[in-house]
Amino acid sequence: MTLRIRPDLDSLPAYVPGKTFPGALKLASNEVTEPPLPAVVEAITAAATGINRYPDNGAVALTEALAVKLGVTTAEIQTGDGSVTLCQNLITITSGPGDEVLFGWRSFETYPLATRVAGATPVQVPLTGDAVYDLEAMATAITDRTRLIFVCNPNNPTGTIVSAEALRTFLERVPSDLIVALDEAYIEYVRPDAAHAVDALALRREFPNLVVLRTFSKAYGLAGLRVGYAVADPAVVAALSKVHVPFSVNSLAQAAAIAALGAQDQLLARTDAVTVERDRVSDELRALGYPVSDSQANFVWLALGDDAAAFATAAIEAGLVVRPFAGEGVRVTITVPAENDVFLSFARSWKS
Ligand code: PMP
Repeated sequence: MTLRIRPDLDSLPAYVPGKTFPGALKLASNEVTEPPLPAVVEAITAAATGINRYPDNGAVALTEALAVKLGVTTAEIQTGDGSVTLCQNLITITSGPGDEVLFGWRSFETYPLATRVAGATPVQVPLTGDAVYDLEAMATAITDRTRLIFVCNPNNPTGTIVSAEALRTFLERVPSDLIVALDEAYIEYVRPDAAHAVDALALRREFPNLVVLRTFSKAYGLAGLRVGYAVADPAVVAALSKVHVPFSVNSLAQAAAIAALGAQDQLLARTDAVTVERDRVSDELRALGYPVSDSQANFVWLALGDDAAAFATAAIEAGLVVRPFAGEGVRVTITVPAENDVFLSFARSWKS
């Protein structure tokens, strides 16, 4: 008997996270290696005494803390159980069968997957030769059917960023009623002095169709708790709140996120250390002859082409889990110096 499950899902791959094994050094998911700060653990422990109750569905305290930090109103913020859910929810509020969702490629796998789950059509515009989002080509690819655009900045998996000028020119070309989601999951790792860095929140004041997506999973070290947020026009937030799965941001996650915001300086010091390491590792890899793109995230991208899968397999044999994209490249998370050195010595041995 064939059960009545949507047949179009048959051809869709499920999301496959990086595999790991006991004792492995996990460099596949762009996580923070250090454990949570004591203040964050304390907040989680305190919140644990109330888990017999449902969480605050509106995440009011967290939303208020974010509004103060970001200088926006609470009506402009929607939290979600990870920014991946907010990507999905943005697709849900904009797109259905016959509609197109536009983004660069290679980029975050959720964009095509969630688009197809919604029955809409993904339109993937190749990155430039430098592995950067090609905003000019994307502007040309907009059609009457385009309902949503994702710009991943820094881009996962290449780590590259678009310039503020290129993004502004792009936004000027996009119809003002078409939502552009700027996925800033890795924004805290962009060097403050990086030339042409985008100030998304300032840009939003000029372009109300711009939605900024951020997460507590990376720089804030809360990947296991699942909490992210969107900063958007109140009309977008109102629509997002309708498709929000009730109570999906749990109480421990809300408490931890508030505590993490309170400990921001300590957490961002860790982030700064990662950016220094990223540049060191990138330079060393280039010196070894690896093609490494200019990453502004907590990972590096090795454009190994056909060698990508073999590199990742050899890494596993050496106890390292990296993230291969067969035929394209390998993404490697940057963490603390000792772990990065283990990866570098593997990279050296692969070359010899
Ligand atoms: N956007 C990008 C570009 C990502 O790489 C990720 C995580 N891999 C996410 C969004 C989702 O992050 P989370 O759901 O953990 O907030």
